[in-house]
Amino acid sequence: MSTQQTLEYPPGANFIDNQWMPSTGPRVNTLNPADSSDVVGVVPDSTSEDVESAILAAQRALPDWAATPAPARGDILRRWSELIGQKIEELAQLMTREMGKPLAESRGELGRARLELDYAAGEGTRLHGTTIPSRLPGLLVYTEREPIGVVGAITPWNFPAVAPMRKIAPALIYGNTVVLKPALETPLTALALAALLRDAGLPNGVLNVVTGRGSAIGAQIAADSRVAGVSFTGSTSVGRQVNLAVAERMGDVQLELGGKNAVYVHSAADLEHVVSEITAAAIQTTGQRCTSISRVIVARDIADEFVQLLSDRWNNLTVGRGTEEGTVVGPLVSDVQFDRVNGYVNQGLQEGAVRVTSDRAVPDGPYFPPTVLDHVTRDMTVAREEIFGPVLSVTRVNTVEEAIEIANDTDYGLAAAVFSEDIDVAMRFSRQANSGMIHINHGTTSQPHVPFGGHKDSGAGAFSIGHTNVEFFTRTKVVYLKPKAAGPEESKRRPDPA
Ligand code: NAD
Repeated sequence: MSTQQTLEYPPGANFIDNQWMPSTGPRVNTLNPADSSDVVGVVPDSTSEDVESAILAAQRALPDWAATPAPARGDILRRWSELIGQKIEELAQLMTREMGKPLAESRGELGRARLELDYAAGEGTRLHGTTIPSRLPGLLVYTEREPIGVVGAITPWNFPAVAPMRKIAPALIYGNTVVLKPALETPLTALALAALLRDAGLPNGVLNVVTGRGSAIGAQIAADSRVAGVSFTGSTSVGRQVNLAVAERMGDVQLELGGKNAVYVHSAADLEHVVSEITAAAIQTTGQRCTSISRVIVARDIADEFVQLLSDRWNNLTVGRGTEEGTVVGPLVSDVQFDRVNGYVNQGLQEGAVRVTSDRAVPDGPYFPPTVLDHVTRDMTVAREEIFGPVLSVTRVNTVEEAIEIANDTDYGLAAAVFSEDIDVAMRFSRQANSGMIHINHGTTSQPHVPFGGHKDSGAGAFSIGHTNVEFFTRTKVVYLKPKAAGPEESKRRPDPA
């Protein structure tokens, strides 16, 4: 660790009750994907006792935090945003070291996390209820939103700041307390962010972070009935397990899961621009993004020109360490992820896909050359399973109907895009594509105040970000208010038995 470091993530400790709590569990090194000899930090593979301490701390903190006026909760979140802004360069360096993504992307991710945080902070002044006309005179009927309680937040490794932020900020503004379990591959950014939130004035126990294996402590959080709801982001297979465990005990879930996102290129005056949009949407985070475009469905009459432009572009994307100036494609997060991506590409080639990008030399380590596979058919594994790497498949089609059918021929339904000069085609695709988010004539980039989520196997529960979060992080309470208890005469006149 650098001696200059001012961010806090001391070795072997969880963040519980605003303190660094040593764990008796084994220690796990967080390695730099660009250089496996660089140990970025050391975190606990936490025990069930650590999770118990975190849940108890969150339970203790809940009554006072829930009773704190929501605008005052927002003030603390705004101070947190300022502190993140002051440390943004250090945080970006940390994120690139633990996750591998290019520095510019890490800075961008922290900026995005702040925008989502700022939106959530403002929600403290917009926590509206409704009034409902009463059938009886002198009675006020209204609804209030109240926190659900202790929230379990479980996050993946690809967005070390945004994924935790997308859960912590809305949970806290609505008055919940949190037990966060970040991914074991990239836990340090979340720990450093938690310490900054303490510095911003968050009371003890409101946010607790425990690190460790999902199959152990993630499953424990999901199964614990003191955790009112679980907001999970990760793979569909794990999301399904979390869903079952939480449903069993009648808790709430918000699940943000995998994707196999398609773009239909129908027509364009400027194909170069379409290639730029698709490339950005496919290659960011080295393709390890749930909304990455991974399937291109292209009209046959423009396919040859499109594939030529695409492969030229992908052959010239700079692959290197995230800290090097000019890097566009960093390393994959781990050797495991490299083997997975490599396995998919080899399987695609065996099943008949044609690689149109060069199999060029890349640095040693989990670096993967950006790869375009052409002549992919809908039954091939590369067209069906989430690859999570810098790999695009291209499928040629004759008609709009065929394009929509292929786009929908997947269990996933997260994001989709269409490029067309014909508004009827674009609108038809938009209406018929089974996806939570549709982008017309641009890539799959979302915005920090707009609801975000997927259909089918890509998600369940309320969309995150923006105004839909209130549906998961609060519950409705109906209040019938009468200034004084009814007298005997009035009770006789009561009309409804219910
Ligand atoms: P993952 O499902 O393997 O792990 C996600 C988290 O769940 C980790 O913290 C992990 O430790 C934990 N976990 C593992 N097993 C668990 C269990 N049995 N019970 C509870 N928790 C458990 O996913 P990953 O490999 O970290 O991330 C990549 C996946 O995340 C991809 O599928 C990607 O599409 C998805 N993702 C989705 C979104 C979205 O918003 N839809 C965003 C980012 C990533």
